[in-house]
Amino acid sequence: MTKPEKPLIVMKFGGTSVGNAERMQHVAELVFDRSRHADVAVVVSAMGGVTDMLIRAATEAARGDREEWKGVRQELARRHREVADKVLTASEQATTLPRLAELMTDFENLCSGFSLVREVTPRAMDTLSSLGEVMSSTLIAAILRSRGCAAEAVDSTELIVTDSKFGNATPLFEETNPKTRARLSALRRRGVIPVVTGFRGATEDGLCTTLGRGGSDYSGTIVGAALDAAEIWIWTDVDGVMTADPRLVPSAHIIPEISYREAAELSFFGAKVLHPKTIQPVIKQRIPVWIKNTFNPSCPGTKIGPTAGSNGRAGVKAITSISKAQLITLSGTGALAFATLAAKAFGALGVEEADTLMVTQSSADNVLCFAVHDADLKRVKAHLERVFELEMLHDQRASIEVMPHVAIVVLIGENMKGTPGLAGRAFSALGRRGINIIAIAQGSSEISISFAVKAVDVKEAVEAIHGEFQL
Ligand code: ADP
Ligand code: ASP
Ligand code: MG
Repeated sequence: MTKPEKPLIVMKFGGTSVGNAERMQHVAELVFDRSRHADVAVVVSAMGGVTDMLIRAATEAARGDREEWKGVRQELARRHREVADKVLTASEQATTLPRLAELMTDFENLCSGFSLVREVTPRAMDTLSSLGEVMSSTLIAAILRSRGCAAEAVDSTELIVTDSKFGNATPLFEETNPKTRARLSALRRRGVIPVVTGFRGATEDGLCTTLGRGGSDYSGTIVGAALDAAEIWIWTDVDGVMTADPRLVPSAHIIPEISYREAAELSFFGAKVLHPKTIQPVIKQRIPVWIKNTFNPSCPGTKIGPTAGSNGRAGVKAITSISKAQLITLSGTGALAFATLAAKAFGALGVEEADTLMVTQSSADNVLCFAVHDADLKRVKAHLERVFELEMLHDQRASIEVMPHVAIVVLIGENMKGTPGLAGRAFSALGRRGINIIAIAQGSSEISISFAVKAVDVKEAVEAIHGEFQL
């Protein structure tokens, strides 16, 4: 009779969870504990702050600065070496230190290349900016081995196949799933815990890509879905998904259970606790995703699953916000049909691959108003000016106006559906604080209601609505 397989848990650890030697050792303990009850696959981020340092070094090198990246090199070497010195056995040090030195040489070669040609391409940036994950996975695997646990660092460029949109690549699941299964199941059969680099993947030709900032959460669910994991645990520095960003609302508290749709909506609208695409890979297989706190592991955390949970209160469940947005207002005269105006506008957003954060319209007045991220504004505006060039010249049939420094505040909850008066209460709460609402939008699915306010008002607006609904 074959021994029944233990369930598989994918454990992903974020940057603060692997920030220094003590934290990494703690991570190894959490993995070791779990591995006694389940098979475990680990996905790790770079040590906290390392990705920012790598990007800064590359940018400065490309500007021709020869000093900045050398300083970063020293700091990177120091931080990683300190972990190796403090927690690895002598034999693990003997293999890990040369590997770290090799990675530092890669860093040096890349940066000196950037400073010579005074350029860093998105493709080269991906290789450099995800080196932190290669270093942290090397260390975590070595720490696990140091405490007698079979583990192997695995570079996700060998698992996750993506398109070639460097900086924000999309996985090709048909290629990724069998590749990930083949490589990691072989380790599982031998009882070896894989420690996979988060954030990075590779094109079919093997060129390194990244999944966008904060993308290690996404790596966790990509790996979890490919292996058909029983659960995915995302370890971070807060107790779970909270009713609001705890940095904006200190009284925010943990939500025990939320649905995939609520989590997807929250992360799309700026809740940094999850990368916006994290939930996509697990929906079909209905794999539960838990958010847990490495600093407080006894707290159960938040369960993200197919349903909103029976303990979910009716109405608003969480508030989130995007504070760096701009509103674009397109107006046409009667000679320009509203449908034409809208078709051209959305065509532009599609081509520029820009997220639309909210949309309001007045078909009678031929006015369409939508919000985009600050980072997308320049591209979208230039595209709109091109496609409306004739209308703008010709009798002023169309005009484009931009309102900068806008924030989008979003109320989220599956159970808001059919609960009347929620938007009105939020409206009044903002009115009492003298916060002007620039625009309001509610999707027909009624899982979210969005308000545009001035960016300077965002903290107060989120607090006011959080207080109004007693979250
Ligand atoms: P990691 O490095 O573990 O990936 P992140 O910094 O990316 O962690 O995400 C965790 C942070 O997300 C928290 O420290 C918190 O400040 C922020 N955050 C924003 N909105 C929320 C929310 N609704 N619930 C929990 N955390 C949130
Ligand atoms: N290290 C990467 C970043 O800082 C990915 C991640 O942490 O999720 O963006
Ligand atoms: Mg993160």
